[in-house]
Amino acid sequence: KVLVGNLIGEDHVNYVLMYNMLTGIRIAVSRCQAKNKRQLTNQDFTAQHKYSFDIIGNELTPSAKYDFKFKDYAPWVFRELREDYFQLDPADYLLSLTAKYILSELGSPGKSGSFFYFSRDYRFIIKTIRHSEHKFLLSILKEYYAHVKSNPHTLLSRFYGLHRVKLPRGRKIHFVIMNNLFPSHKDIHETYDLKGSTVGRIYSEEKAKQNPRAVLKDLNWINRGKMLELGPEKRALLSEQIRRDSEFLKTVYVMDYSLLVGVHFVQRGNRDKVRSNTLKVFSPSVPAIRRKNTQHKGARSPEAMAVKRAMRESDPKRLGSDTFNLPEEYTGDRQQFIFYQDEGGLQATDEANQATDTIYYLGIIDILTPYSTVKHLEHCWKGLKADRHKISPVPPQEYADRFFSFMKATMRGGDGGARFKAE
Ligand code: ATP
Ligand code: CA
Ligand code: CA
Repeated sequence: KVLVGNLIGEDHVNYVLMYNMLTGIRIAVSRCQAKNKRQLTNQDFTAQHKYSFDIIGNELTPSAKYDFKFKDYAPWVFRELREDYFQLDPADYLLSLTAKYILSELGSPGKSGSFFYFSRDYRFIIKTIRHSEHKFLLSILKEYYAHVKSNPHTLLSRFYGLHRVKLPRGRKIHFVIMNNLFPSHKDIHETYDLKGSTVGRIYSEEKAKQNPRAVLKDLNWINRGKMLELGPEKRALLSEQIRRDSEFLKTVYVMDYSLLVGVHFVQRGNRDKVRSNTLKVFSPSVPAIRRKNTQHKGARSPEAMAVKRAMRESDPKRLGSDTFNLPEEYTGDRQQFIFYQDEGGLQATDEANQATDTIYYLGIIDILTPYSTVKHLEHCWKGLKADRHKISPVPPQEYADRFFSFMKATMRGGDGGARFKAE
């Protein structure tokens, strides 16, 4: 399948940022990966590795096109999360992200001002985050790690890395790398972002008709009479996992997260060629790897070799077109996870647990907003004439309970088939 996007050349405002992000990831991750695996220590959760890049290069970092600094946070923790719990192949991870310097930018960033970039193969998302979100993730990293460890099938965002790029003038950009819930090989026909709240949670149906990629909300879901069509088995599994995940989110005191649901109708197939958001393709300029003094120990590990090979083989020419090729086939890389085992998602089932012709791609996203931040935002809004109770956030406890009961009630057959009632 080919998705059309706008090729963004090296003159794109975020080209340098992308270059720096990918160069930093490439060097920092392969550096950690080249070492022998070892037991995590307490210090690993607060560790920060700094790298300094410039056009000349040194023993630690190869020459880069631009001057910038890069910080890798808790590299050993994320390595273990990736390899032991999220079952990512180490070489694969690096290659997907950095073998070619291609990222695509998600159409329009959310209200938060975050930018989203898809890896070339659509498997990974880089999301720029606020400094507060960054600090927050670090502060709950231990709890997050423990939760993932005891919940291999968690629906929470899978964080694969936490990094920072510092540009010469001092601008700092924090970002996480996480799983793209949506597959590259299946059209997503409808997308919903569900919070379990109904106040203001609607996207204009009029506009939705024009834009099949629109992200719809709770009221659209309810008004359209949607349910998660799952038979007793999957219903029980999913609702138990959402219960555990929302309990976790309660304990770390966050809110404002949502269940992102992408729906694929098997009958309709891929004829609309609607994946997710429009892909804008950055110029695939190849990284300058003039490896001068870069022969460091460990560079010969299998992962490092795989990366080097991919670097050599990557096409140094520009794509010369504004199309973007996505993998046609499901790579099978999520098979071991209950909720991602059917074509990378969760196939709907009937009351006899027989598969029906819908596949859901779902997960709990945007989990880095602690209550304190929301309270602060609320404070900023006070001066505005907005209806206070509409924007007033509910505390994490209430948020989680409301979230869970909404999800439970919206599973066909759940709660005796009761429909969630709009307030
Ligand atoms: P806000 O705080 O205003 O909600 P945000 O910038 O924090 O915005 P998110 O809520 O994290 O953004 O995500 C915005 C949209 O990006 C989602 O509705 C979804 O369409 C897409 N998205 C986010 N995370 C993922 C993911 N892991 N997989 C697929 N799509 C995602
Ligand atoms: Ca959100
Ligand atoms: Ca957010």
